[in-house]
Parts: sequence; C-alpha cells; structure tokens
Amino acid sequence: MSGRVLVVNSGSSSLKYQVIDAADGTALAVGLVERIGGAGGGRITHTVDGEAHRSDVDVPDHGAAMAAMTAAFAEHGPDLDAVGLVAVGHRVVQGGARFGHSVEIDDDALAIIEELSDLAPLHNPANAAGIRVAREQFPDLPHVAVFDTAFHLTMPEVAHTYAIDREVAEQHRIRRYGFHGTSHAYVSREAARMLGKAPEDVNVIVMHLGNGASACAVRGGISVDTSMGLTPLEGLVMGTRSGDIDPAVVFHLSRTAGMSTDEIDDLLNKRSGVLGLSGRQDMRDLVEAAQAGDEAASLALEIYCYRLRKYVGAYTAALGRVDAIVFTAGIGENSPEVRAGALAGLDVLGIELDDAANEARSREARDIATPGSRVRVLVVPTNEELEIARQSIEVIGG
Ligand code: ADP
Repeated sequence: MSGRVLVVNSGSSSLKYQVIDAADGTALAVGLVERIGGAGGGRITHTVDGEAHRSDVDVPDHGAAMAAMTAAFAEHGPDLDAVGLVAVGHRVVQGGARFGHSVEIDDDALAIIEELSDLAPLHNPANAAGIRVAREQFPDLPHVAVFDTAFHLTMPEVAHTYAIDREVAEQHRIRRYGFHGTSHAYVSREAARMLGKAPEDVNVIVMHLGNGASACAVRGGISVDTSMGLTPLEGLVMGTRSGDIDPAVVFHLSRTAGMSTDEIDDLLNKRSGVLGLSGRQDMRDLVEAAQAGDEAASLALEIYCYRLRKYVGAYTAALGRVDAIVFTAGIGENSPEVRAGALAGLDVLGIELDDAANEARSREARDIATPGSRVRVLVVPTNEELEIARQSIEVIGG
C-alpha cells in the first residue's frame, strides 16, 4: 500500500493534520491549529524535519484554519503540489449504524455525517466543517471519511444492545457504538503481527488509555465488545470522565441537587474521572502525587486500575481464549504503574507481568509478560494517522 495522504482531524476548536506516507508511516509534516473561533486569536504549529514553526494566526472559523495550514505548507514545506498526495483522509467520530467502513466522501455521505450530529454534538459538526472546507481547498483529490465507530459495528447484538425499551431505543438510535476504533483496529493488527499470526487467528484485549480511554475485545480481528457506548462517557475511568456509573446518579443530581442536564453533562464528562477524584488529570502528575503519599491521588489510581482489571476479567469471559492484553496510547504506552495495577492478581487468568520488562522505558512495540505467561502482555504504540492514511488508500483502490 503506497501513497501520501493528508490526514485531517478537525475538532471544535482545533485542526490537527499530517502528511503521511502510507507505505512506511513517515510523517512528512505534522501540524496543529489551535483556538479556532477563540476571542484572543489562534496559533499554528507546523513541524517539518523535527523543526517546529509557531505563529499567531487569525482563525475565526475552520475555513481560516485550513487556509493557515496551506499557508504554512507554502512557507515551510513540503510543497503540497509536489509531494504526491493521493487523498485527504478525515477522522470522523460518529458513523452511527450507517458506516461500518471508511467511505469516499460525496455530498450524500457528508449529509449523513452532519445528520449524525445528534449522536455526537461535540464532534460531528466540527468534523463536517473540516470536510467541507478541505473539499473546497483540495477539489481535485478524493476525500475519505474514517470513522471512530466503524471498527465496532461488528459487535454482536448481544453486546451492543442496552436493556431498555426497544421502541424507545430504535426511535432514538440508542445503542452502544464504541469509539477509538481506528486505534483498536491498528493496534490489534500490530499485536497479531508481533505474535507471528494472522489477525483471524488471534484474540486480544486492547486497552487504549489516553485522556479518553476504552477497552476492546477483539476476536479474530473483529471487535466483539468495547467499553464506550452511545457516547465516549461509558466504561473505563478516564482523565475527566466518570466511565461506568449508575444512571440513577443523574436523576438524583437533577431532583435532589437541582442540577440542569447541561451541568450534569459537564460534571460527568469534564469534571469527573481522576480529575474529579484527585484534582489531577494528567497521569504523570497523579502517579507522582500517589508516590509522594497523597491519599486522594492513591485512591484515584487504585480506582482507575481496578476498573481496568474488571474489564480484563469481563472480556476474558467474552472471548474465552485470550492470546494477549495490549496496552496503547499515552498512558498505556508509558505508565508501568498503571499496567502493573491493571494486571495485579490476574495470574489466575494466566496473565503474568515481567516486572523488569514492564519498568523498562521504550518507544518500541514490546512484549512485557514473563516467558511462562500463558497470555502475552504487549505494549504497542498506536498510530491513528497512519491507519487513517492506509484506510483512505484502500477506499480509493490504491
Ligand atoms: P489523547 O487521548 O489526548 O490522544 P494521549 O494518548 O496523548 O491522549 O494520552 C494522554 C495521557 O498520557 C495523559 O494522561 C498523560 O499523562 C499520559 N502520559 C503521557 N506520557 C506519560 C508517562 N511518561 N507516564 C505516564 N503517563 C503518561
């Protein structure tokens, strides 16, 4: 699979982009436009050959952000006309029950992405805005949408159906969709490669632990369960999200504390998780504080790891045979404390962590289980941009 792809991740107030070579994963340029629509103006950081070029830019909207991006390419390189782009790949958060695969974007696909905004009001409108301006800016290139949810559309009904009134659920499209699919797809395939097997022959549990976090049970290359649901709020404890909670907490806060829906949404999505428990969102700070004897930080870390352990147990039950537990994203790749905490006491499931291998710092994919461990434990750096580039090329038939 070869070709260079401009990968675009358009958020509500930021635009991230990369020009990436799908053959070897080299990023020729990486950029970030921040504070789109912000009162004090925005900023662009464009990195080429390891050198970061920063400047203040006026970016009232996504069109201006895209213009700032092309201006940065013109000034600092590489030359977008000469680099040989074959496609623009767009990250789209919610593909609903409609998109089980990446698709080339036409007017109809864009309309559906916009229509799915009621399921992802924070993300899809911004994704669609990025697509619209990119199609204007690069009219001669095919544009491909790669959905965070698509990998999980293979989940069986028993895993994706909530036990609520079926008519209400159908009418409002309430089911479990799952997110981080691009990462789970990439990482589970890399894990199979490390195990020297075809993806079809491997069962893994992937723990994507970044600011947002989700677990995924992958049987033979196919997602059969994942911890995020209708929205990214369900499942694991995260930086600022509660993860699993009794839904009656919401009624209680509404009726007893008089909080509005928006206030509760803000509480559970932005002020909970390890931040709500300890005042610290960043895992590095949390671990440091716990090690220094801060009790709230210690408890937050324990709760975080206990939730992980419960999901390893649940997904072991769902899969039957597990070949590997795979850790990825900022925390999964870098925190030996979290990996050890997540797997503590799980030798009963055939999972044995090698302490020295777990502690060793590395940026490489690696196996950190003891030689005798029946289940392998892998650390695999994720690369969502490369996966988007590869899927974009696959869609256009490259
Ligand atoms: P995002 O979901 O925003 O893409 P990342 O995958 O970059 O997030 O992960 C961010 C998290 O990774 C933060 O909580 C940060 O503390 C954590 N992290 C990064 N480096 C380390 C490290 N060396 N040790 C522990 N945690 C780390």
